[in-house]
Amino acid sequence: METILELKQVVKSFGSLTAVNHIDLKIKRGEKVVIVGPSGSGKSTLLRTMNFLETIDSGEILFEKEPCGYVTRGDKLVLDSQKKLCALRSEIGMVFQQFNLFPHMTVLQNVMEGQVTVLKKSKAEAKDTAYKMLDKVGLPDRSDVYPVTLSGGQKQRVAIARALAMQPKMMLFDEPTSALDPELVGEVFDTIRSLANEGMTMVIVTHNMGFAREVADTVIFMEQGDFIAKGTPDEFFSSKVLHPRISEFLDKLL
Ligand code: ADP
Ligand code: MG
Repeated sequence: METILELKQVVKSFGSLTAVNHIDLKIKRGEKVVIVGPSGSGKSTLLRTMNFLETIDSGEILFEKEPCGYVTRGDKLVLDSQKKLCALRSEIGMVFQQFNLFPHMTVLQNVMEGQVTVLKKSKAEAKDTAYKMLDKVGLPDRSDVYPVTLSGGQKQRVAIARALAMQPKMMLFDEPTSALDPELVGEVFDTIRSLANEGMTMVIVTHNMGFAREVADTVIFMEQGDFIAKGTPDEFFSSKVLHPRISEFLDKLL
């Protein structure tokens, strides 16, 4: 399988703090990458650089082998034209911990919005796709309500439908179940799992080790902006003994 997204020596700092420290990563089409690690280790920042929500200080990001997003001005990297970025962002969907639905729009409008404004689809076409995506996430009968009336699990599934409606080539999930009551976690993981089974390329930040073990092709442990370990779930979980910090981290989760 070919590489869909590649990060080369990506660095992102906030003042004197290096949140992402010379990261190299290749993600293959269809691959499921799970990133784990303590709070503040740079997981969200790394995910946001992949979607160009965070401007990197140095390094390179290639999507489908093409360097993208950045041009060099003097000794600085600056984000490229709006147009190129928009096209790129619509190809990489993102789902956040806090759902980030538009509260003043119905569920249907939430799922239609990006299709109309970014993809320039007709309303009819956007609506058609929105219904299909709501069906896919198991919410065919919630299209006309406002987000405030939904449970957290339903909100997150709407957020997933909204991302999918942009027909992305890959999906990023940043702790998609961390804001949910425990009984609502399952329905969101079920939705993500079925996407995974359909072959979607995805990067998922989660503390749910069961899910990591089940769905991941690759598990990465991140600490202080660095990858401390990277491997298949089997390699990762058996390497516990070799990596005291990972073992300590996993023990704390139990
Ligand atoms: P994680 O998702 O693993 O918890 P983050 O990527 O959110 O970690 O944060 C990594 C580090 O970068 C933390 O020390 C955090 O405080 C810092 N950080 C993240 N975003 C910002 C920001 N916008 N401004 C300043 N510091 C930030
Ligand atoms: Mg985070």
